Amino acid sequence: MLHHLPILSPDPIWGLTAEFQADPRPEKIDLIVGVYRDETGQTPTLNVVKEAERQLAATAGSKAYRPLAGNAAFNASMTRLLLGDGASSLERAATIQTVGGTGALRLLGDFIKLAQPEATVWTTDPGYINHRPIFEAAGLHVRDYHWRQQAEGIDVELAFNSLADARPGDVLLIHGCCHNPSGIDPSAEDWAEIAAFCAKRDVVPLIDIAYLGFGLGLDEDAAGLRHLVEALPLVLCAASCSKNMGLYCDRLGAAMIVAPNSGVLANTTRNLENLGRTNYSMPPEHAAAVANIVFSAKDQWAAELAAIRNRVSSLRTTFCDTLESIGAPASFQALRQHKGMFSILPLSPAQMQRLRAEHGIYGSNTGRVNIAGLRAADIPMVADAIVKVAAY
Ligand code: PMP
Repeated sequence: MLHHLPILSPDPIWGLTAEFQADPRPEKIDLIVGVYRDETGQTPTLNVVKEAERQLAATAGSKAYRPLAGNAAFNASMTRLLLGDGASSLERAATIQTVGGTGALRLLGDFIKLAQPEATVWTTDPGYINHRPIFEAAGLHVRDYHWRQQAEGIDVELAFNSLADARPGDVLLIHGCCHNPSGIDPSAEDWAEIAAFCAKRDVVPLIDIAYLGFGLGLDEDAAGLRHLVEALPLVLCAASCSKNMGLYCDRLGAAMIVAPNSGVLANTTRNLENLGRTNYSMPPEHAAAVANIVFSAKDQWAAELAAIRNRVSSLRTTFCDTLESIGAPASFQALRQHKGMFSILPLSPAQMQRLRAEHGIYGSNTGRVNIAGLRAADIPMVADAIVKVAAY
């Protein structure tokens, strides 16, 4: 059996991380993987999460099996977080707890394959490295559309032109905020145009929202999703609690379907549950129980998240100021308005390799860097190295 396996090279991101770990230079800098890091280079556990875990340890509840949809209170709170307290759309949403945002994407991929097997899923170019593999693994066709910056938002005309072949029932995957890898988010006008495009072409949006709270705030970052939900009969959403609750390895997320009416919700949920059932049966309880306590201390959570967001945005500003002051090409100033942790440096793969080889600065060959991987003290050195490699 095993000799029939395809021969695979290491995953590009984890392979590069292994290269970073093997690099003996003490001054090396890791801007590769998409996790938040604080000024000491650590990925901290939020205080609100530590407190929740203390409470859970003290009560030591039963570990008996939970329902197939996971923790019902968590599902309800996630739906409110995504759609807004008191939103009329809450009435027509079905949400099920998933194994991280990745699990939500795959569950929705399986759901699309079941409900609309010939659908093409349109993913952004550039895009998240795992989108295409997830939807192809679900047996769906995947094609790309262009995602480029224009003024305060994205170039919608270019995006729509590259969607010329989209057919009714196809799925348009959009990053809800903090686009990975480009940091380019749609403006409010762009979201309105996206909604109009979906309505006109009968295309179903799937919002992947893995960085809610990392752009402008918990409500602000959900504005695009909420706009689509108000404007369209059907919206799919994959959400992750990995970044905004810092629960990365505890694997918590949610798949939400906002349906045309509440009458179809019970059967929609049963289908989602059934897809989970044949895979992992039910999602793990622990992180959902933590999240419920976090939701009950929402002000504290929002304050800790704001500190994270402000650190990343101040690093971004200092980085751009420094690049400007030492004469880096003007194209680097586009990074200023990006949202979230990522940006694509306007450098070629060869220049990214030189950053690694000559300066010990590790980003992806595509130019993607995680701004949160910078420490304020590193910025002059990193900016200087970038100017050197950008020169030839
Ligand atoms: N979507 C995007 C755009 C992401 O960047 C990520 C995480 N890197 C995910 C989904 C998956 O998140 P999770 O770790 O919760 O599976």
